Amino acid sequence: MAGNFYTVECPDCENEQVVFGKAATQVACAVCGSTLAHATGGKAVFEGEVLDTVERREAPDDLTGSS
Ligand SMILES: [Zn+2]
Repeated sequence: MAGNFYTVECPDCENEQVVFGKAATQVACAVCGSTLAHATGGKAVFEGEVLDTVERREAPDDLTGSS
């Protein structure tokens, strides 16, 4: 279960951003800068709604095999 990524929806601008589940630092929205996740030293605490869980070692890439 370690190392999962989560797709989190920004509570302010609805941007969907992939966040590491054990983020070591605060994660900000790439669009509006709102905080999406707080680091706690363990599992991150998400501010926005978690839309999806991505059990991969890398962030999903929409260009890969999308057809
Ligand atoms: Zn945002």
